[in-house]
Amino acid sequence: MDNAFKDIVDKLKDSQSISKEDFAYLLERGDKDDIEYLFAAARDVAERYFLKEVYLRGLIEFSNYCKNDCYYCGIRCSNRNAERYRLSEEEILSCCDIGAKIGFKTFVLQSGEDPYYTDDRICSIVRKIKIAHPDCAVTLSIGEKSKESYQEFFDYGADRYLLRHETADEEHYSMLHPASMSGARRKQCLFDLKEIGFQVGCGIMVGTPHQTVDHIYEDILFMQELQPHMIGIGPFIPHKDTPFKDEPEGSVDRTLRLLAILRLLFPKVLLPATTALGTADALGREKGILAGANVMMPNLSPSNVREKYLLYDGKICTGEEAAECNACLRARVSRIGYHVADSRGDHPDFV
Ligand code: SAH
Repeated sequence: MDNAFKDIVDKLKDSQSISKEDFAYLLERGDKDDIEYLFAAARDVAERYFLKEVYLRGLIEFSNYCKNDCYYCGIRCSNRNAERYRLSEEEILSCCDIGAKIGFKTFVLQSGEDPYYTDDRICSIVRKIKIAHPDCAVTLSIGEKSKESYQEFFDYGADRYLLRHETADEEHYSMLHPASMSGARRKQCLFDLKEIGFQVGCGIMVGTPHQTVDHIYEDILFMQELQPHMIGIGPFIPHKDTPFKDEPEGSVDRTLRLLAILRLLFPKVLLPATTALGTADALGREKGILAGANVMMPNLSPSNVREKYLLYDGKICTGEEAAECNACLRARVSRIGYHVADSRGDHPDFV
């Protein structure tokens, strides 16, 4: 038992802020009971706004072509071993039809940065999904674009946009990406998206090479400035065909502590228990919910392409069908005393 640990948790819960020293303490110190106290505080705050509801988002990985060369990512352009694929507009729409039948109210369209999908093509897909499923939200996760492009996507009906900033520290950013990419530009994209009116998600991987506690604290300061509606975090997991193939995997314990801290700092934020967390630990997603997360993203991609969208090694659910992933996640959620929400699951300030 560590009273200092608990005092920091109480202070964080009351003030929704934390000093760098206290943050480091919560990430690195404490025994099992202390950590459970942190998680219980995060669950308590999540329940205040979300009851015991978990939102499901159907994830459609529609292309693994990518023009970028991020050092951590399995679909980076210089990975010659990646077998590339693209889904047609019809295939994407049929994924949504399947998803709607099993109760999803949000579709997340994610891909590498694939120039084949011009703004016109993206807008057409978004509009057709919104016409077929007017009660559903469409989330895009397709990388860095100009503000004009983002505005067009929004005008055609896209509701939300996920763009992890990956790290707020410019120097650390340059250790994870080639010199042609810029952390400042990525942050600007997030501010543009917010200004346009999207519900915006940023986020990081936990345990990327060279990441320090100070870096993660910088991420928190950036998030406090951006005030995102969603924050996606998951452990870094090495991929065999990347420059980071021999780097250690990010810690599940640290990811869970960070989820709980983020819940206490941002009580209303949408916080997914990610597939990477479920890959690093078979019960990772359940543990995520029990540390304050409130979103899960089952895979809706057609099963013949799933094993090709590999950002990291060992990704779970690559052999399943949409209906199986849905049933499995619903069972996992109810086993821990939560239930899947029927609503679209917008940010509480957005409805
Ligand atoms: N091209 C889109 C989608 C990126 S993939 C974009 O630029 O936003 C979605 C997220 O997966 C990335 O933002 C990154 O944080 C995460 N990711 C990539 N490689 C990973 C790895 N090796 N381990 C864990 N997460 C990874």
